[in-house]
Amino acid sequence: MHRPIYLDHHATTPVDPQVLEAMLPYFTEHFGNPSSINHFYGWEAEAAVKKARETIATAINATPTEIIFTSGATEANNLAIKGVAEAYFKKGRHIITVQTEHHAILDPCLYLEKLGFEITFLPVQNDGILDLNLLEKAIRSDTILISVMTANNEIGVLQPIQVIGKICHDHNILFHTDAAQALGKIPLDVQEMNIDLMSLTAHKIYGPKGIGVLYVRRRNPRVTLASQIQGGSQERGLRSGTLSTPQIVGFGKAVELCLENIVEENERLQGLKDILWNKISNLQGIHLNGHPTQRLRGNLNISVEGVDGSALLLGLQSVVALSSGSACSSTSTAPSHVLRALGHSEKLAYASLRFGIGRFNTETEIDRVAETAIATIKALRSI
Ligand SMILES: *Cc1c(COP(=O)(O)O)cnc(C)c1O
Repeated sequence: MHRPIYLDHHATTPVDPQVLEAMLPYFTEHFGNPSSINHFYGWEAEAAVKKARETIATAINATPTEIIFTSGATEANNLAIKGVAEAYFKKGRHIITVQTEHHAILDPCLYLEKLGFEITFLPVQNDGILDLNLLEKAIRSDTILISVMTANNEIGVLQPIQVIGKICHDHNILFHTDAAQALGKIPLDVQEMNIDLMSLTAHKIYGPKGIGVLYVRRRNPRVTLASQIQGGSQERGLRSGTLSTPQIVGFGKAVELCLENIVEENERLQGLKDILWNKISNLQGIHLNGHPTQRLRGNLNISVEGVDGSALLLGLQSVVALSSGSACSSTSTAPSHVLRALGHSEKLAYASLRFGIGRFNTETEIDRVAETAIATIKALRSI
């Protein structure tokens, strides 16, 4: 039996063989603890960590000391939101974020709400983009943090991060962005985009699972954070715990590979997506979710009229692996909070498909997926 075609690259990606190759020696020969400053084994591990830290810093126009390694974007988001709340609560207790954020933003915010913080969850427009007038109006004198994701994990929509960052800085408010889906796919520049805190993760860009980064600005302004994990004082005391050298090396290599090829790969992904969309949208009653152009190249999110969502996935699953709604809540049948925020009815939001095209997908695969989707939709509609 052959495996279904993988089109769920917003959930996770395979480790690129070149990334694995770079990681392997750091499990066995070069196994030292990067914090062991007294001997060779520690030094060689530390040198590898330093190199990866520099690669990641350069990729986002930051400095190496502004890179804090975490276990992923979930932990980076928690550190950013709770860390700012705890460090700045004397200045204010109001935080602004958006309804279409990942649960790794929404849930820490809800947690802070229980502790007495006030959170504004802004709606989005029908195309998934934040209305900047609404953002300006939501700002208060006690607002300490604004968190808006760079690229959405369901509908791929790109928010106007640079302008949002400018608004934050004009009001002396810290700006955090969850860029887990954006890294390696669009250019990121923390200076130009006015970003103070940014969450990243390796496993969405063909790196290993379990490693991420929080970028924490050190100058103009210098961001203070309350650490959420205390211990051996690694990562400037902001995130204790022995660094995982193999994963960090893998993250660095994954970033390097993405950036080498960002323009060509985006063109290729756009081409594949156009093929998929042009074929499927020949049917009646197919809606594109999210802004048509201001989105990730590999993302296609559609809602299908006149079919049952779970029947649609069931009909496709032997040929293609993809998600309906949000991957993070795929265990529940509740309609996605992101599609609901676009103003979709419960029924239409449920009959939706998220195609996430990635590095190793081919045109033959995309043709096959399109044909299968069309046949399945037609069959379900004729019942
Ligand atoms: C995947 C993802 C996360 C979670 O990242 P982990 O590294 O798996 O914790 C957070 N935010 C967004 C937008 C994501 O796509």
